[in-house]
Amino acid sequence: MAKTPEQLWKTPADEALRWVRGTDLSALDQAATPGWRGSRAEGEELMAVRGHELADLQERLFAHGRTGGDRSVLLVLQGLDTSGKGGIVQHVVGMVDPQGVMHRGFGVPTEEEREHGYLWRIRNALPVPGYVGVFDRSHHEQVLVVRVNRLEPVKTWRRHYRELNEFEAEVAASGTAIVKVALVVSADEQKKRLAKRLDRPDKHWKYNPNDIDVRLKLPEYVAAYQEMLDRTSTKEAPWYVVPADRKWYSRLAVTELLTGALRSLDLGWPPASFDVAAEKARLAAT
Ligand code: ATP
Repeated sequence: MAKTPEQLWKTPADEALRWVRGTDLSALDQAATPGWRGSRAEGEELMAVRGHELADLQERLFAHGRTGGDRSVLLVLQGLDTSGKGGIVQHVVGMVDPQGVMHRGFGVPTEEEREHGYLWRIRNALPVPGYVGVFDRSHHEQVLVVRVNRLEPVKTWRRHYRELNEFEAEVAASGTAIVKVALVVSADEQKKRLAKRLDRPDKHWKYNPNDIDVRLKLPEYVAAYQEMLDRTSTKEAPWYVVPADRKWYSRLAVTELLTGALRSLDLGWPPASFDVAAEKARLAAT
């Protein structure tokens, strides 16, 4: 008989991956599979099972939004190039009906975006009630790339930690369950993935020469991630740090986190706004 999720997870993903302030990020094993005691095949099997649950929960959320509910979910994905953000969107978020997903990627701000505060484009992309929002990179770049590339004076970006927390508390209070995921890939694995992109003509479109510049600044990024995690993991919007060298694990882990967030909304099906028996009778008479 197949094992139950409780047997396969020694510690549930949300407990095993939730960031604990002060943990040393540089000591993280990026190939580890925290909390998991099953095999890869069992992980892939469980992911498919969860996919059905995820799709059902997302449909409930959508129905809730259609009937005046105010709840939504926001999945924030942060991670360096090749950490697998795109794969999470494709393989995890891809398990639900795309009509209920609001996906947004955040790159270098455009000229128009630069004319506003950095949260302007973020606010405009927040999921509306009933939707699962996905941020591929996010407002947290303001304390990552902005810090590492010295795009703002230290005094300015330091202020952002508090602003980010206040902003997320406000978003959570408006009915959005926030799940923040930091995908952490090792330098060796990143090198392999970049080499693959260079070797395969069908992957050249994914390669960006800037990725090498980012690689050269890895220690600075680790320091920036460390401080971001320590300072912006809050009760309303906790960070989950997901080792990303094994894609099957990171995808399974994010599936669990997203499913858990939707489950915690505890949404039933909205009651019919019409007389079901009367409508059945009317239909039968046609
Ligand atoms: P990815 O590597 O995420 O697949 P990509 O290489 O296709 O992305 P984009 O998604 O267009 O490129 O942009 C990502 C780049 O935008 C990253 O280098 C990131 O550091 C940068 N970026 C994101 N937010 C900001 C910001 N607020 N200020 C400056 N640069 C930013």
